[in-house]
Amino acid sequence: MPSTYDVINPANESIVETVNLLGLEETDAVIAKAAKAFESWKNVTPGERARLLRAFSQAVTDHREELAQLEITNSGHTRGNALWEADNVANTLMYYAAAPERLFGRQIPVPGGIDVTFKEPLGVVGVIVPWNFPMPIAGWGFAPALAAGNTVVLKPAEYTPLTAIRLGELALKAGIPEGVFNVLPGKGSIVGNRFVTHPQVRKVVFTGSTSVGKQIMVGCADQVKRVTLELGGKSSNIIFADADVAKAAAGAPGAVFDNAGQDCCARSRILVQKSAFDTFMEHFEVAVKKFRVEDPNLATADMGPLISKKQFDVVESFLDEPVAFKGSAPSGPGYWMPPTVLLPKNTQSRSWREEIFGPVVSVMTFEDEAEAIAMANDSEYGLSGSIWTRDVGRALRVSRGIETGALSVNSNSSVRFWTPFGGFKQSGLGRELGPDALDSFTEVKNVFISND
Ligand code: NAP
Ligand code: MG
Repeated sequence: MPSTYDVINPANESIVETVNLLGLEETDAVIAKAAKAFESWKNVTPGERARLLRAFSQAVTDHREELAQLEITNSGHTRGNALWEADNVANTLMYYAAAPERLFGRQIPVPGGIDVTFKEPLGVVGVIVPWNFPMPIAGWGFAPALAAGNTVVLKPAEYTPLTAIRLGELALKAGIPEGVFNVLPGKGSIVGNRFVTHPQVRKVVFTGSTSVGKQIMVGCADQVKRVTLELGGKSSNIIFADADVAKAAAGAPGAVFDNAGQDCCARSRILVQKSAFDTFMEHFEVAVKKFRVEDPNLATADMGPLISKKQFDVVESFLDEPVAFKGSAPSGPGYWMPPTVLLPKNTQSRSWREEIFGPVVSVMTFEDEAEAIAMANDSEYGLSGSIWTRDVGRALRVSRGIETGALSVNSNSSVRFWTPFGGFKQSGLGRELGPDALDSFTEVKNVFISND
């Protein structure tokens, strides 16, 4: 039975487009096509594979306006973000275009001959993408996977398939051969789950909720299938009294409310040293009230709507704790919510412990460095975080003390395509981006050649 999905513009609730969702048989057919394409793609010479990835990158750059517009309409992302996201795909492709020609093995001294290692591709890689950053998260999976010689089947989230579908077309247009990069709109329970159970899919890259990630890990165990997981987060923004507190406060709204807080790296817990609390809150209130929640097509927009009514309801359920202050949001159709600052009673409060994935932040105080580290680590998650201090030694000690994968000091940015990204604890398994990602898309093969 063919099924369809009406893509909704979350800024006004209008139907943008109706997308066909793949069933099981169609999914199997695409996986078979990808498996067949792997036989030739793995043998494309490194220089040629690099050239094709550069051409794909260029095609994305040539269509950045169109891709950004699709994301604004499909996902409610602000214009500034959507352009950054399209550029991130182009940049990630260009970065990994350098990989095929540099996928070095080693020569290891052994008696009786020589020993060399090769980094072999895995086969078909399944990439399962969530709705919060449809373009970048897809690119972090498919760019290194393709560069390493794998073919890719990519399932976008049901809510947000449009940019992924377009990227699939652009890949073909750029010369990437048929069957090498395949986009399969469909349900997680059907298409996504089939990546887990199909024996020809040799690896699953999953980004999404911790609960689904755990199910995927369990499912992959059956075939000892390789898996990379990027899951939830409850990251801390730690402000010491010796920091430039005004600067930390000015940046704090963007650190959590960017993409309407629908960001696994959102700094949704603010920890302020007690002696700086009043100063911080004074500056923070000004910054939150200045944060522009408006039509995401406007170049001035800092934040758009939430992705869906369902997400709106989930986020709203956290708003029963004491409110310090709120920003503003449009009324009328669309899933609009003002940025909200909560003052939870204690560290057991729900808003302090659970990933909210919306424009809500909780603020608490700490006495000293040791308490700050303990509070930050008191979470099942460990994805990112920020540390604000002018003391270099403290910055180092706290960076080493916090159990998370991506930290920034006197800055709130944690994602750069040059550097590894991933989580400690229940925030994930494995690393994407940077030099590390290639290891998770290849197997090391050791070959000994006898002198005889
Ligand atoms: P989700 O259910 O984990 O969805 C992520 C992706 O996995 C989607 O493509 C989804 O497809 C697919 N999927 C769902 N069930 C699957 C299964 N059994 N097998 C294989 N694939 C499956 O996340 P969500 O429901 O969209 O969001 C729920 C919460 O997860 C959010 O509120 C947030 O807390 C967290 N989240 C975290 C991230 C992150 O970046 N770490 C991203 C998104 C969400 P469908 O679209 O068809 O469901
Ligand atoms: Mg779900």
